[in-house]
Amino acid sequence: MSLSLVRPARILLLGPPGSGKGTQTARLLDRFGMPAISSGDLLRKHIADKTAIGTQATDIMKAGGLLPDSIMTNIIYTELRARSWLSSAFSFLLDGFPRTLPQAQLLDSNILIPHHATLNFVVKLDVPHEIILDRIANRLVHVPSGRVYNLTYNPPKVPGKDDVTGEPLTRRPDDNPAVFRKRLVEYDSHTEPILEYYSSRTDSNKQSIVWTVAGESSDIIFPQLEQEIIRRFGVSEALVSAASA
Ligand code: AMP
Repeated sequence: MSLSLVRPARILLLGPPGSGKGTQTARLLDRFGMPAISSGDLLRKHIADKTAIGTQATDIMKAGGLLPDSIMTNIIYTELRARSWLSSAFSFLLDGFPRTLPQAQLLDSNILIPHHATLNFVVKLDVPHEIILDRIANRLVHVPSGRVYNLTYNPPKVPGKDDVTGEPLTRRPDDNPAVFRKRLVEYDSHTEPILEYYSSRTDSNKQSIVWTVAGESSDIIFPQLEQEIIRRFGVSEALVSAASA
């Protein structure tokens, strides 16, 4: 069942590409009704809709590069406004944005500070690079639905076909090992300054808003993340006992 948080949680989920951010995001939505914005999903939608941003994104994403900070900040601002989440009353999760220090600064100065809704929980997923590279080598997607398969852990029932529609599965164009290594290096170089930027911030209980969770699989990471969110933001008592029953 879904749990209701007592205090709104405005979460940034940081983790290397392929670390399972999408899986954690889906489970948080299921557990806490926590809505999320994924910058990568927004860009893939722009590409599918053949917008001007989509055209620019296609080549950059294929090459494992990053889109300009100002474009990304505008995309996220538009999305947050469209969903009316820009208020200190709402919980939300950001996945994939901010990904550089200037994006974190722009997010604060142009979007969150004016709405009294700065981030209050920054989660770093720590997953070993060799595990990630193995996962990527085995990842297939069904593009129209976004369903993701893994040839080792979660293979399709019929090889190469989506379980629901029977349509062909493909590899993400940016899932090749050379591009992926570049994305991992890029991730490391951009993430340190972001963590540094948020590290001195504390929440209303005077604890740092930055928290790291390590694990080799989503099943190991999720229960720790769930408990930490409950500890920091609280859930109503009735719901806690129902959850632990
Ligand atoms: P993801 O699905 O988060 O792995 O993102 C896929 C690709 O989209 C990245 O490799 C980048 O090319 C692009 N992208 C996603 N989010 C951002 C961002 N915040 N800033 C710049 N580029 C981004």
